[in-house]
Amino acid sequence: MTIDSKPLFGKVALLGIGLIGASMAHAIRRAGLAAHVAGHARHPETLEIANTIGFADSLHDTPIPAVRDADFVVLATPVGAFGPLAREIASELKPGAIVSDVGSVKTAVVRDVGPHIPKGVHFVPAHPIAGTEQSGPEAGFAELFEGRWCVLTPPPETDPQAVEKVKTFWHRCGSEVEVMDAKHHDLVLAITSHVPHLIAYNIVGTAADLETVTQGEVIKYSAGGFRDFTRIAASDPTMWRDVFLNNREAVLEMLGRFNEDLTALQRAIRWGDGDTLFNLFTRTRAIRRGVVEAGQDTPAPNFGRSRARRP
Ligand code: NAP
Repeated sequence: MTIDSKPLFGKVALLGIGLIGASMAHAIRRAGLAAHVAGHARHPETLEIANTIGFADSLHDTPIPAVRDADFVVLATPVGAFGPLAREIASELKPGAIVSDVGSVKTAVVRDVGPHIPKGVHFVPAHPIAGTEQSGPEAGFAELFEGRWCVLTPPPETDPQAVEKVKTFWHRCGSEVEVMDAKHHDLVLAITSHVPHLIAYNIVGTAADLETVTQGEVIKYSAGGFRDFTRIAASDPTMWRDVFLNNREAVLEMLGRFNEDLTALQRAIRWGDGDTLFNLFTRTRAIRRGVVEAGQDTPAPNFGRSRARRP
């Protein structure tokens, strides 16, 4: 057995087995990263689907049995549930264990989870920047993290060996890894992910509320750009509600900038200032080329079916 195929952990507990948790379970299996994968979800239907797919060695409807004796515990529910979950599992965490997460925001996670981590247990927050608009265990697939970045935001006092282990974990799931300050992560993701989602939710909502254009026309003629927004706006409502509630400051800062730039475009259109429009569209085209050249354009394969999340 080569070093790279050795299990990194004895037992991994995934609290939340939706798109991200299930994809991690598949990736762990594929790379032989753990001897035992335990999964936790609340609803029997979620556990039944996970059981049928078979990506976990044990499934639990409460978190305590899942984390018992685990070496690596990953919070993979919507972000709003992290604090209560961390409080619930704290006394069961094994000394030396590593707690991590996959939340799309990081400052709030450090704030809500950090205080519950017992002495002797390591906390290494993480955000795999990989996803689709699908949810639920049936949406998971092992390749989701391949070639994507995973950002770690360990507080400064974190044990470097624990950080290295989490880095190795994500490398072996196929990701590139970067370490960043939590606040900076939230600012970067506000502009690259959170505000774009808000714009998509908003434009689809606006189109749905229009009185002069029928719903039928919106759907029929959606190929002109609207279609791509509807894909993003189909993302899980619970997850995205929690993202905006927990990254308020950075999202509002970026929205302020966005509104100013939109006003400038509005003015350019009003005054027939074609140069302003042309120059911006030329610059944005170059950014698109950069994204493609960096290999960050490949659409995630759609292996799963979308499922509405219950509250
Ligand atoms: P998802 O597909 O909706 O799955 C969520 C999972 O969490 C389900 O197994 C659900 O189980 C469970 N769950 C929900 N609320 C819970 C609670 N209060 N207590 C215990 N379990 C609960 O969500 P996801 O897309 O995997 O997202 C999970 C996390 O990954 C989020 O924090 C999100 O910010 C982050 N993330 C998402 C993406 C993305 O593109 N989707 C990308 C990167 C990071 P039940 O069915 O039993 O409720």
